[in-house]
Amino acid sequence: MFKKILIANRGEIALRIQRACREMGIKSVVVYSEADREAKYVKLADEAVCIGPAPSAQSYLHMPAIISTAEVTDAEAIHPGYGFLSENADFAERVEKSGFVFIGPTPESIRIMGDKVSAKQAMLKSGVPCVPGSEGALPEDPKEIIRIGRSVGYPVIIKAAGGGGGRGMRVVHTEAALIHAVQTTRAEAGAAFGNPSVYMEKFLENPRHVEIQVLADGQRGAVWLGERDCSMQRRHQKVIEEAPAPGIPRRVIEKIGDRCTAACLKIGYRGAGTFEFLYENGEFYFIEMNTRVQVEHPVTELVTGIDIVQMQIRIAAGQKLPFNQRAIQLKGHAIECRVNAEHPYTFVPSPGRITMWHSPGGPGVRVDSHAYTNYTVPPNYDSMIGKIIVYGDTREQALARMRTALSETVVEGIQTNIPLHRELMVDSGFCAGGTSIHYLEKWLAQRKK
Ligand code: ADP
Repeated sequence: MFKKILIANRGEIALRIQRACREMGIKSVVVYSEADREAKYVKLADEAVCIGPAPSAQSYLHMPAIISTAEVTDAEAIHPGYGFLSENADFAERVEKSGFVFIGPTPESIRIMGDKVSAKQAMLKSGVPCVPGSEGALPEDPKEIIRIGRSVGYPVIIKAAGGGGGRGMRVVHTEAALIHAVQTTRAEAGAAFGNPSVYMEKFLENPRHVEIQVLADGQRGAVWLGERDCSMQRRHQKVIEEAPAPGIPRRVIEKIGDRCTAACLKIGYRGAGTFEFLYENGEFYFIEMNTRVQVEHPVTELVTGIDIVQMQIRIAAGQKLPFNQRAIQLKGHAIECRVNAEHPYTFVPSPGRITMWHSPGGPGVRVDSHAYTNYTVPPNYDSMIGKIIVYGDTREQALARMRTALSETVVEGIQTNIPLHRELMVDSGFCAGGTSIHYLEKWLAQRKK
């Protein structure tokens, strides 16, 4: 096992990885930007190294600074967390070429899955069902594009091959709007992701977002750890996640879970990963694979009892999976609310000093957050400042515990989306379970009236 790991991330996930290391008796080095000097995990770290100013490009995305810090601190492996460099194949490659272990899949896997067109092609070959659409990237010829649009059938969605974080997508309802939409998405994708390639999918009108967590050791061992329902989204960004997905028959989930592990074996996948699907009318359609730990991993940890971050570290150290599929037992229900520093209804970011922070507690309550009283939320990064995760024997108990947890939570000095979560936890639609990906946006629009 490694003696020392460098954590190339910030915020709650840096703290989460630090905790996993501590439990395993591994020392950790955190790198931080000048804006994160006062963060809790920096103060708690075995070693902390400032790698640059606040802008990510000069700190958390600055590969030479991160790799040279690993060198001077004698770290053996680098955990990239999520976001930042976690799905950057060039970074994974540079880490390995510099003699360190990248805690994640091989650069080749990251590269294939990072391009949504090649990811879909790999999935189709491995027997994973995909959203119907163009075979690969769209051609230049407008006539060809129109022809593809007709064969897919409207509405369609134009998506950037290199897209991520809910960006680089455009829904098209009519043929008249198609070419302009393709051109705009191409231009945006080129500017935002450095890859103008776009593809077309059938736009599913009322799907749910259901994803499968996998672990694979790259040595013929692969398991899936149940599913997560992440349908509560705003602007394609997840707000609430839960496990299991309410109301989907187990045999349907089992079938898709087994397809995912078969695909892992087929592509020689190594590490933790998530197969994201849209689920509509009893069918699963693959949309993308994330080759890293996800924000919502705790709900899976609570229903399986498996520490996903520790498993990532064990796999990276060359260990085989210590269990097979039959040993994975799902128990109870878990819900996660993402706590963002933002206005609860306008979603305008609200960075600044937290004058009072009080986390909830009690049975079945887990809080993953780096925030504390007097902590200043920097304006430079994502607005998520923590996650409240609850576990219950049933979904009803988990909901009740989340309501209590949210009622106990106090955050003053900045605005957060906790009032929104409080409302949603008593909303009849959400409480019934099985809402579609459009539910939250429609609910917010209704609320304004
Ligand atoms: P990203 O990498 O930016 O997260 P995804 O491909 O995972 O992009 O899609 C994000 C979200 O966009 C999905 O959860 C869903 O809400 C919506 N979406 C993507 N593809 C489709 C589709 N074919 N039909 C309907 N909604 C879609």
